Amino acid sequence: MQNELTFRQMMDGISALVAVLTPDGAVDFVNRPVLDYFGKTLEELKEWSSTDAVHPDDLPDAVAVLSRSLPSGQPYDTELRQRGADGVYRWFHVQGLPVRNEAGRIHRWCILQTDIDERKRAEQALRESERALRQLIDSVPAMIAVADANGKTEYANKRALDYLDTTLEEFRDRAMTLVHPDDQALLRNEWVRSNTLGQPMDLVHRIRRFDGSYRWVSVRGEPFLDDRGAIGRWYYVFTDVDDQRNAEETLRERERHLRLLVETIPALVSRSTPEGWLDYVDRRVVEYTGRTMEQIDVDVIHPDDQVSHIRKLHHALETGEAWDDTYRIRRADGAYRWFYDRVEPSRDLDGHVVCWYAVKIDITDTREMEEALRSTRRKLSSATQIATVAELSASIAHEINQPLASVVTNAHACRTWLQHDPPNLERAQTTLDRIIRDGHSAADVVRRIRALFRSAAPAKTRLDMNAIVHEVLGVLEDELRDNGIIVDAQLEADLPIVEGDHVQLQQTLINLVHNAMEAMDRVDDRTRSVVLSSRRDGDEILMQVRDHGLGAVEPAIIFEPFFTTKGSGMGMGLSICRSIVEAHGGRIWATANEGAGMTFSFTLPAVPSNAST
Ligand code: ADP
Repeated sequence: MQNELTFRQMMDGISALVAVLTPDGAVDFVNRPVLDYFGKTLEELKEWSSTDAVHPDDLPDAVAVLSRSLPSGQPYDTELRQRGADGVYRWFHVQGLPVRNEAGRIHRWCILQTDIDERKRAEQALRESERALRQLIDSVPAMIAVADANGKTEYANKRALDYLDTTLEEFRDRAMTLVHPDDQALLRNEWVRSNTLGQPMDLVHRIRRFDGSYRWVSVRGEPFLDDRGAIGRWYYVFTDVDDQRNAEETLRERERHLRLLVETIPALVSRSTPEGWLDYVDRRVVEYTGRTMEQIDVDVIHPDDQVSHIRKLHHALETGEAWDDTYRIRRADGAYRWFYDRVEPSRDLDGHVVCWYAVKIDITDTREMEEALRSTRRKLSSATQIATVAELSASIAHEINQPLASVVTNAHACRTWLQHDPPNLERAQTTLDRIIRDGHSAADVVRRIRALFRSAAPAKTRLDMNAIVHEVLGVLEDELRDNGIIVDAQLEADLPIVEGDHVQLQQTLINLVHNAMEAMDRVDDRTRSVVLSSRRDGDEILMQVRDHGLGAVEPAIIFEPFFTTKGSGMGMGLSICRSIVEAHGGRIWATANEGAGMTFSFTLPAVPSNAST
């Protein structure tokens, strides 16, 4: 008893959990730490195999281990979870040792249970984090490999193995065979270089994919240095950049084509920032101006064209609208040539201007040709006019000559009859009657000729005078610009149509605008402007051409045929205008403006809007 007490006290004193079993496995004794841990009595613990003392998942194994050891007397060693008084299972390392008597028979089993819960959980956490890491490595959208300091592959993630359609073993032993033969040397050299310098590796090479095709991959390798600073491992990331490389190649190719195209077109091409600063010029711009992009300034534009060009540029920058201009640009040799410049904005999805593209075409030759054509036309038209007038004068002279000759003859005769002594008054009377008759006949000739002018019946169609104004401005565009004349068209919308001869009415307006232009020829102290207006005025439409020229010397007689104040004028323009307008049932007149210049007005009967066509 004394012994027993001492044994119990001894057992209770050690902090480990100790139990003693009978040879057939029944619980005979447990120390205090066991009772405290389980929070059960010895009696209850005897029933351990049919209670929750051992975790249900570990129970079958615990029973099996015990029942194997008991008959054999083999010590056992196992790990299992046991439920504490707080209801929580903790991991224990359980070791059973047989205690034999002198005869060598098993007298008791001594069971030592060590709490290994913390270690077990740490191990589990480590396993868990390792699993998560592997999962992560396998699922990152990149191919990963790890190699030792000699470059031998130790590990490759699933994505890499799947991509190469290989196993880890195969990859480990024959990694180089997967690399494109042409790139193997490059890869090897690069690896040797990086390994020697201990620097990251970065290159692009071809590798054989699962489908047997070689594709471009980008490889980045980072060395991992050990405590002594030596390379312990290499970590590699591979990315398939084949599509990207092809796209880049296509893009480069396209860019090359585009550049070729831009350089080949016979025009000066440039690009500017949204604020209008040049940021690209093609080869031709540099060759033509003899300057680099940085040297190109506003002074390449002819001084006379700078103001209007800059005004247009500012307007476009403010509104973001496409624009064009015709102006002279200085060539490298100092000569100016005419260019037609067309500028288009390029916009992003939000509609903001990203840049401006400009194409300039040399139109000097075309312009010179046009000018030659215009001058020929001018000469031709005045030649025709001179010819017409010459013809007209000849026929007038011819028609008038006869009665005039007869007048002179009769006047002579009359004088003779009057000089008789006595004067033969009867004969003189008769000859005077003849003179009067011939005088009338000459007047008739003149009247007939004038009637001839009037009776040129116009070919009438329905016309929109506003459209004719636009046509006229189109025809005279170059001349107006060359003379620095600004045109203001104030045209009434919904202007009634008129019936008339298209060409004649166009000619009338051209004559009036021409005269206006000539009247402002010597005007330098004010803006040279012409206002062309149209409006309804009762049953008529009123067309006006207002200039700011020098005004007419004789406003009352300017419509008379052959009246001109110009050295090379015919004096027929306004007279013809009057004939045309009157033949159309309208009136034409001129008034001096209050300020400067003249206003020429003419009316034409409006066609009632309900008139059938
Ligand atoms: P031309 O133009 O050949 O002289 P026109 O019959 O067209 O013949 O014009 C006759 C004259 O009327 C001109 O020479 C000019 O003196 C005067 N004239 C015509 N239009 C204007 C105008 N807008 N301002 C001032 N004078 C004008």
